[in-house]
Amino acid sequence: MVAPIRALVTGAAGQIGYSLVIEIAKGDVFGPEQPVELVMLDLPFCAQSLDGVKMELQDCALPTLVGVEALTDEAAAFKNIDYAFLVGAMPRREGMERKDLLAANVKIFKSQGKSLAEHAKPTTKVIVVGNPANTNAFICAKYAAPKIPAENFSAMTRLDHNRALAQVAAKAGVTIGAVKNVIIWGNHSSTQFPDVRHAKVTKDGKEVDAYTAVNDNAFLQGEFISIVQKRGAAIIERRKFSSAMSAAKAACDHIRDWHVGTQPGQFISMAVPSDGSYGVPQGLIFSFPVQICPDTKKWKIVQGLELDEFAKGKIDVTTKELIEERDEALKACEEANM
Ligand code: NDP
Repeated sequence: MVAPIRALVTGAAGQIGYSLVIEIAKGDVFGPEQPVELVMLDLPFCAQSLDGVKMELQDCALPTLVGVEALTDEAAAFKNIDYAFLVGAMPRREGMERKDLLAANVKIFKSQGKSLAEHAKPTTKVIVVGNPANTNAFICAKYAAPKIPAENFSAMTRLDHNRALAQVAAKAGVTIGAVKNVIIWGNHSSTQFPDVRHAKVTKDGKEVDAYTAVNDNAFLQGEFISIVQKRGAAIIERRKFSSAMSAAKAACDHIRDWHVGTQPGQFISMAVPSDGSYGVPQGLIFSFPVQICPDTKKWKIVQGLELDEFAKGKIDVTTKELIEERDEALKACEEANM
């Protein structure tokens, strides 16, 4: 029998958690033949509701789900895991300053970094969804080192990537499968740079670049960028709740591609530790175009893409924001004597 994969979801009693656990449990991430042991962690005040989610998962009668645990103890939850979906984070409340939000999250992700080092497998791969995701991933990696290498840490920009695919497909009048290689550069925040300069669209049986297929440069360098950046807020305005379903789907896409590899010639967006590519300071958790080798399951930043002055300017802004966030988070670590 194939050994089960042990996958942890934190914040599992939350909105994203509710959509995410079923996708992992039914094989959407690791495949229909791969048994999964699902570990769900949340804060003690959520224990009862988490238990309800566990009962529902049992009632789904899924052949791929060979174990399900609902826990409020961090050490137990991180034990022997293969994958961690870190969704739980301190939410931004009205009137809260970024500094306070960062300080609260630094505590959570420092603690989880240490738990990864102490209890998880050294091969564990981590996606951080909880915001500010890039900086939370940076802190988590810092405290999980050296047991777990920095390259095993990532933050999610796949939802932004998927949103960009959807916008290009709609504007070019094609289905989503006909669009590939959009890029989200930088932070999962409003400074992110959704870039379609290197994207390809298959239209009328021919592969062309996205600028040709869309045929509206002003849209691609203006409205398109702000639609992608502000899509989350637009959904909250209509639904009154955040975009949890699409966030969960994107987290699954991210880990599935990391687990099985990307298609030849395809690249996806993932926030990973910079190796200095495109002038981004080393170690910053920055969203890049990446390809994942199906054999080694390792990501590689796509090299050699040409950036015009417009793109360089946008990448500069998001890099600066991430440097500031990183420095504030490190300061919060010091101030709290952590
Ligand atoms: P959600 O499940 O809606 O969101 C969880 C996190 O994901 C938030 O940080 C949120 O950021 C972020 N996020 C990223 N992308 C998106 C997106 N597209 N749409 C929505 N959120 C996005 O939050 P809930 O409040 O419903 O649930 C959070 C759960 O986490 C709670 O059950 C809480 O108890 C738990 N928690 C667990 C911790 C732990 O296990 N140690 C620590 C802290 C909380 P943003 O706030 O910016 O929307």
